[in-house]
Amino acid sequence: METIDWGNLGFGYLPTDYNVRCYFRNGKWGKLELTSDQYIPIHMAATCLHYGQDAFEGLKAFRGRDGKIRIFRLEENARRLISSGDYLRMAAPSVELFTEAVVKVVEANERFIPPFGTGASLYIRPLLIGSGPQVGVKPADEFLFLIFVTPVGPYYKEGFNPIRVIIDRDHDRAAPLGTGHIKAGGNYGASLLSGEEGHRKGYPSVLYLDAKEKKYIDECGAANFFGIRGNTYITPHSHSILPSVTNRSLQQLAADMGMQVETRNIPLTELSTFDEAGACGTAAVISPICSIYDPQEEKTYTFGDGKSAGAWSTKLYHKLRDIQLGEEPDTHNWNKVL
Ligand SMILES: *Cc1c(COP(=O)(O)O)cnc(C)c1O
Repeated sequence: METIDWGNLGFGYLPTDYNVRCYFRNGKWGKLELTSDQYIPIHMAATCLHYGQDAFEGLKAFRGRDGKIRIFRLEENARRLISSGDYLRMAAPSVELFTEAVVKVVEANERFIPPFGTGASLYIRPLLIGSGPQVGVKPADEFLFLIFVTPVGPYYKEGFNPIRVIIDRDHDRAAPLGTGHIKAGGNYGASLLSGEEGHRKGYPSVLYLDAKEKKYIDECGAANFFGIRGNTYITPHSHSILPSVTNRSLQQLAADMGMQVETRNIPLTELSTFDEAGACGTAAVISPICSIYDPQEEKTYTFGDGKSAGAWSTKLYHKLRDIQLGEEPDTHNWNKVL
């Protein structure tokens, strides 16, 4: 058995022992199968390949100091996959089937769940695709639901350091009444060029504005955005923004800590009033933002001292991580403990 250098894991694909899969055929879900095959046989006319019937999820399992395994907010991810499937006209697994599949694949790959204290975790990637053939533009009549897992390292190898962000006015990630509110693979395809251009200019992430008026903050790369002013946590609300489970959790923790929470349109000009800013999602929990550059106005918004993460962001980050690891009481019942 190969040994894994837990302390030096990145965010990439490392093969594990098993994945699980299940087909929807003739109007119902079949048997949930455990397999070691990393490939899926697929019909060349499958709708996922031609017409974007493709949605996914991302969640994590953690090993605690007590040796127990905790899966964070599994049901929320199940419900979001159902909503993605519904919009893309795909049959989606029930919360019960999703739960059974996650538990099965995590338990089967137990040896890949990183030890406590390494900062690493087991990333869980559910996928739902139209696997049946169609030539006309219509939904498939066969769907494949699968989940693979892969151990991933801590997002911050060098510590909780803030990133620089650039506003992208030349591309939209999602249309106002389009697919931004669901976790569709196509949204990611639409963001790749924008992300590459941002990187080339020296920015790890890009900030999108609302596609219609270019007046309000949308998402930050493939993460939600939030700002903090005084003791208020402010995050944009829009149909084109993916409802992030991390963001919803941070809003709850902020309220628990006595902060005010606002979910509403955030005009770009309001950036100059924020003390802290961040991007949030499963991968990093929070990526603190030290500055946002607007190339059109040739203006830079900076947050805090421009170098380190703000006090509230740091507190929220540690609180959420500690709940995931079982270091703090899970008062909202977010973890499924195995
Ligand atoms: C997955 C995703 C997020 C983060 O959602 P979490 O549930 O917190 O992981 C944010 N924005 C987009 C576009 C996403 O696809």
